[in-house]
Amino acid sequence: RTTNPPVPILRKKMSKSDDLTKKLFYKRTNFWQKAGKTEQQQAHAFCEGYKNFLDVAKTERECIDFYDNKLADEGFSEIDGGTKSKKVFRLSRKKNAAIAIIGSKPISNGVNLIVSHLDSPRVDLKQNPLYEDGETKLGLMRTHYYGGVKKYQWVSTPLALHGVFVKGNGETVKVSIGEDESDPVFVMPDLLPHLAKKDQYTKKIGDAIDAKKMNLIFNSIPYMDETDEDIKNAVKLNALVMLNEKYGIIEEDFLSAELQLVPAGKARDAGLDKSLLMGYGQDDRVCVYTSAQAIFDTKDNDKTVIVYLADKEEVGSDGNTGAKSIFIIDFLADLLKYNNEDSDSATLRKTLLKSQILSADVNAGINPNYPDVHEKENAVHIGCGVSLTKVTGVGGKSSSNDANAEFNSKIISIFNEENVNYQTGTLGNVDVGGGGTIAKFMAEHGAEVIDCGPGVLGMHSLYELTSKADIYSSYKAYKAFFEKA
Ligand code: MN
Ligand code: MN
Repeated sequence: RTTNPPVPILRKKMSKSDDLTKKLFYKRTNFWQKAGKTEQQQAHAFCEGYKNFLDVAKTERECIDFYDNKLADEGFSEIDGGTKSKKVFRLSRKKNAAIAIIGSKPISNGVNLIVSHLDSPRVDLKQNPLYEDGETKLGLMRTHYYGGVKKYQWVSTPLALHGVFVKGNGETVKVSIGEDESDPVFVMPDLLPHLAKKDQYTKKIGDAIDAKKMNLIFNSIPYMDETDEDIKNAVKLNALVMLNEKYGIIEEDFLSAELQLVPAGKARDAGLDKSLLMGYGQDDRVCVYTSAQAIFDTKDNDKTVIVYLADKEEVGSDGNTGAKSIFIIDFLADLLKYNNEDSDSATLRKTLLKSQILSADVNAGINPNYPDVHEKENAVHIGCGVSLTKVTGVGGKSSSNDANAEFNSKIISIFNEENVNYQTGTLGNVDVGGGGTIAKFMAEHGAEVIDCGPGVLGMHSLYELTSKADIYSSYKAYKAFFEKA
């Protein structure tokens, strides 16, 4: 075998048109190509903390618990706690929160706020869930899905049970079964393909799994009683005996409980190069985590900055823990008062009108298996950084916030100055479908608002896929917004 001498590489001379193309064309850039080794390592390292967060905070209540434990360590104190501090927070109804750093300028000059949501699509237990099937003598739980789920994904997959019982005496009992390796998991068994011809294969995919058939197998051993061999509902009785021993609850406590089924197990690196991250609930906990880390790392902000973690986005932001409630406005009014500023209605309105908001939510990355639902020049490319989304909604831009050009351009300039990998995005091609975010509800208060977050593959599925490049870019984008906008 002989070695050939290296062939000299002939470089094409840059022509005038090449120069002009380079100067004038917009080109989306891939984070991994652009970032140096150090920043690539920073992206990987950042995501270790994020994975841990996804593992321990799978419900809105667990997210709030996570920050309740963390905020004091990060130097924040409760706004109602009586101490004077520039770093304050308020938790509300154990399901939503506001975290703020008061700036050197008056709050009434306007704040920079990032809102994200900590609820994710899931399957809840019904209020009266437990029953024993008369034929099979199995203990089961009835369910009711929450948010936009594809029901077929939730059957025949390991699920963990999370939530709370609030007992008659007011005591709250937390439940988490299925996350520890030694815990049991729960399954809603799907129909075997051999017998699915009539019940499933003739139906449209959205109808193939009937919500009434989404009952999970809870237990199967009957209660044993030597004095009574003919116990009615012995399997259900055994389930209640076990629950009573473990949590001190009776069946009536289910009626008020909030119990949620989520995919069991931990978030994982994905892809051979570990450049991606697979985990449940990244819509929108990726923005919860990145915006919270951004405020923790914010230094020398002249404007007041706020992270608002809202609940109920997946069901329309309704309810007193959702973004349509007065919670955040009330917090802002109290923040003005706390900072010895006027907090009357007019001042509050003007403060909102002068404020700037990033609606931090995920967008749909181009899925190479389904490229046709996107228009690729206006869609989010995985690995190319955080996405700025001017327009959400459906059809002819209805139900959309539609960010103003001036504000949009200002944010782009900040991202360029701060070397944030960003791109623009839309949720799918025109007339293919659509979706909304919190942006339009925040815009109702008159502030400038734009959607800003990473792309996701398989959004709302059990195991959403994100790029570590986009997660890290989102964190950088949020920090830049807080420090420079
Ligand atoms: Mn979302
Ligand atoms: Mn969603």
